[in-house]
Amino acid sequence: MEYLSTRDKTLRKNAAQAITMGLSRDRGLFTPVSFPSISALEVETLRGMSYQRRAAYIMGKFLEDFRPEDLEQFAENAYGPDKFDHPAVAPLRKVDGRTWCLELWHGPTSAFKDMALQMLPQLLSASLGMTREKKTACILVATSGDTGKAAMEGFTGVDQTKILVFYPENGVSEIQKLQMATQEGENVGVCAVKGNFDDAQNGVKRIFSDEAMREELTGRGYFLSSANSINWGRILPQVVYYISAYCDLLEAHEIKLGEPVNFCVPTGNFGNILACYYAKRMGLPVRKLICASNCNDVLTDFIRTGVYDRNRPFHTTMSPSMDILISSNLERLLFDMSGGKDELVRDYMGQLAETGRYEITPGMKKRMQEIFYGGFCGEEETASSIAMLYRYGYLIDPHTAVAAKVLTDYRHETGDKTPAIFVSTASPYKFCDSVLTSIGQVPVENSVDRIAQMAEITGVAAPARLAGLKGKEARFHDVTEKELMEEKVLQFLQ
Ligand SMILES: *Cc1c(COP(=O)(O)O)cnc(C)c1O
Repeated sequence: MEYLSTRDKTLRKNAAQAITMGLSRDRGLFTPVSFPSISALEVETLRGMSYQRRAAYIMGKFLEDFRPEDLEQFAENAYGPDKFDHPAVAPLRKVDGRTWCLELWHGPTSAFKDMALQMLPQLLSASLGMTREKKTACILVATSGDTGKAAMEGFTGVDQTKILVFYPENGVSEIQKLQMATQEGENVGVCAVKGNFDDAQNGVKRIFSDEAMREELTGRGYFLSSANSINWGRILPQVVYYISAYCDLLEAHEIKLGEPVNFCVPTGNFGNILACYYAKRMGLPVRKLICASNCNDVLTDFIRTGVYDRNRPFHTTMSPSMDILISSNLERLLFDMSGGKDELVRDYMGQLAETGRYEITPGMKKRMQEIFYGGFCGEEETASSIAMLYRYGYLIDPHTAVAAKVLTDYRHETGDKTPAIFVSTASPYKFCDSVLTSIGQVPVENSVDRIAQMAEITGVAAPARLAGLKGKEARFHDVTEKELMEEKVLQFLQ
């Protein structure tokens, strides 16, 4: 399987090169030249397998250069019982007769980012070997919370890699800060930035495009790489759980082989829902993809009108991982929806950079609307969605609550009775403050103590690693001015 750049189809790489590079030199995103199919017979075979074996099989279709036994081993390492606290890895929970919730937060950091970031480091390591890269990969991450911790947890102890995470000093929750500051491992580093998330992100981008820095690092035996969801090695492991969820519905005799289902995905950077679209492209019987946003509803408008316009106020919400106005992975969908017209994608991305706005062709809009539905959910509705599901005995986080609400809206609006799965992207224990308030409780003062408080009130067990944060000593205390991030990188790579 070859991978091409969404901005220049003639630029082609193999999987190992695409994963090592992360982003194409022309700033396009690597996308498979075609989609391997998954037949009904194969789905039937996968149905009897563990999550790990399903993952190795499905990823193998895109990674023919990798040895199947290696992929099996990677899946065992990534999704084993020492990492995931549920034997099904990504279990489905039945909500009512035709609604299920796909829980993607049973990994080490209690957010769905683990599903990909437990796998990516192994794919990257193998890719370094296959491309005969001798230098050490230095992964730089700017995070607004979930990615930084999940990336460190994935890369800790991985040979030939080092990882340095920058987070906005006052822009992440106290739980998230503590999760990062207590990270173990010799090859990891964490540094707070005096500024907001954009300052941290701009600093990382500046370092990536600094030629002098690149030369200096090469001299020291390093090259820079990314663990962001623009990397193909992060999208591919996410295709797996959509197919796996379908297999689980079959296995539970809830649907018949070939029967269509709908998925509703809480969306930020468009990585997770893109993986669902790719599963559909492979032939998985998915009817509608429901794209759920919070009040940063740029994608809702785009799907409804065909106009992408980021010129609008930015809202800080209780689902912060979806507070985003530029969804990077949409570029891969545009490429596919246009029938592979790279010049069109270049044009749209140029307009987005210059004016913050572009409008797709009527043909593309029609194709998109046949497959996607867009909806959004405000803050009050998010809180009542949490409260409503809690009354039915199910405690969910604010991101998941957005998806649950938008699915309900979709059903009311369209009357579509197709069995549907909404995707749960974080444990409610990562957002105790918002969840407790939504169910009518007053959170206690100390943020770590809220974990025990919520467990006591709801009777739902907290993930052991989050509960274990209480009393844990922080290892990292570094803070930097945003202009001095370069020096932190150089110190880290001494
Ligand atoms: C990252 C994240 C999202 C958004 O996922 P995308 O792939 O960026 O669309 C949603 N919920 C949670 C909890 C996340 O961490």
